[in-house]
Amino acid sequence: MKCKLCHREAVDEGLCEYHLLALKNLKEAYPRWEEAYGGMEWEEYLKRLLELEETGEWVKDVARMLLDQKSYLHR
Ligand SMILES: [Zn+2]
Repeated sequence: MKCKLCHREAVDEGLCEYHLLALKNLKEAYPRWEEAYGGMEWEEYLKRLLELEETGEWVKDVARMLLDQKSYLHR
């Protein structure tokens, strides 16, 4: 099976190792953002990541995917 976001082979959750790692990083960073801003919606968090220049392309791919998949919005 191919990764949903690129042409590499998927290893888990339909994602390749790079996009899987980006997903993991994205999920791990959320509590820190939530705390830093005194509360932030998951969807808002994803949108902000997409706006930041320092966000890596792998993470942006994953954030876009999560925003498209509404079921992911409610953790
Ligand atoms: Zn991929």
